[in-house]
Amino acid sequence: MKLLRLRAGKERSLLRRHPWVFESAIAKGGGDAGETVRIESDDGRFLAWAAFSPHSKIRARAWSFDEAQRIDAGFFAARVAAAVAARALFDLPSDGQRLVHGEADGLPGLIVDRYGDTLVAQFLSAGVERWRDALADALLAATGLAKLYERSDASGREREGLKPRTGWLRGDGPTALSIQEHGWRLGLDIATGHKTGFYLDQRDSRRRFAELAERRRFRRVLNCFCYTGGFTVAALAGLRAADALAGAEVVSIDSSLPALAQARANLALNGFEGATAEFLDADVNATLRRFVDEGRRFDAIVLDPPKFAPTVAHAERAARAYKDINRQAFKLLEPGGHLLTFSCSGGIGADLFHKIVAGAGLDAGVDGFIAERLGAAPDHPMTIEFPEGEYLKGLLVVRK
Ligand code: SAH
Repeated sequence: MKLLRLRAGKERSLLRRHPWVFESAIAKGGGDAGETVRIESDDGRFLAWAAFSPHSKIRARAWSFDEAQRIDAGFFAARVAAAVAARALFDLPSDGQRLVHGEADGLPGLIVDRYGDTLVAQFLSAGVERWRDALADALLAATGLAKLYERSDASGREREGLKPRTGWLRGDGPTALSIQEHGWRLGLDIATGHKTGFYLDQRDSRRRFAELAERRRFRRVLNCFCYTGGFTVAALAGLRAADALAGAEVVSIDSSLPALAQARANLALNGFEGATAEFLDADVNATLRRFVDEGRRFDAIVLDPPKFAPTVAHAERAARAYKDINRQAFKLLEPGGHLLTFSCSGGIGADLFHKIVAGAGLDAGVDGFIAERLGAAPDHPMTIEFPEGEYLKGLLVVRK
């Protein structure tokens, strides 16, 4: 059995059950990629069983803090079954669900989404890579499904020294699928889409946006970074419920052509052909500036940009980028208008994001009520032991 000995004082985070051990905390020891190691404190006390990652700054990720726990196929079957069972607690209004959310489900580096009868997994750490077969079997057993597609092509794999890998891991079938979210039909492609194919984490905020559209009867809506048009469908669904589709205009912007094609298809799938929906294949920053110059105004704007700051090291530059788009958005907002603004950067905390948005409003000369704080849907949980799980944060600001 391989051993990892920590430096004096470096046991504190493991004692708080935080699962990460950084390179700098290690005095000696190690193992092969993904191998289970026993982690001990400087004075030889057992701390955790963990997966060793020889190439990553996060040099080990804890599987268990219980000395009696064996890390074997049975352990992974139990963890996967618990994660799948936990989703039943959330009453999710969709057959697109995140079943395994990494550290929060005790499986650091593993992401699994379910789209109807198809599972999509990302193996993003040396530990889950080593147990890939056992995890695949456990996923099929826990869900009763037969199809599992692998999308291990996220950038996090490089940091672990792992090469990208995609394709069917169990069973096979079409990669163009659709889910039912809040009763809307949304098409996606698990082979070519972003991440596992769809941004399930914004489910609750899409619902909220539909409610606001219905209640406030938005006339002009701007959906920035629209991807496959989730917030666009939400706005139109809300307007239809209020019988207010006629005369409404929804502009959606993204720089990905395949995403825009899927967005158009998603409108057709939901029967909004009659609505005025415009899709722009363009850079959001440049388009916002142009709209400001043209004197355009919107009564609802969604800003859901990609991750500008993957880690705290990128936070400062990312903060400027967030502030910039939010400032332009404030300038485009009608009095009484609604801004839904998000950051999915792990490196930007909720307080900092709040400050950035406040600074953007100040620069734009616009005051607003921070009406709500928004976050990831409950199948993307954060836990007490792993606060880094709070990556997605949003604010609903209503302009004064
Ligand atoms: N709101 C979406 C998810 C957005 S993901 C949903 O609910 O599904 C971020 C999107 O931003 C991606 O689709 C990406 O293609 C797009 N993007 C990234 N940089 C961009 C830029 N500079 N201009 C326009 N779109 C951009």
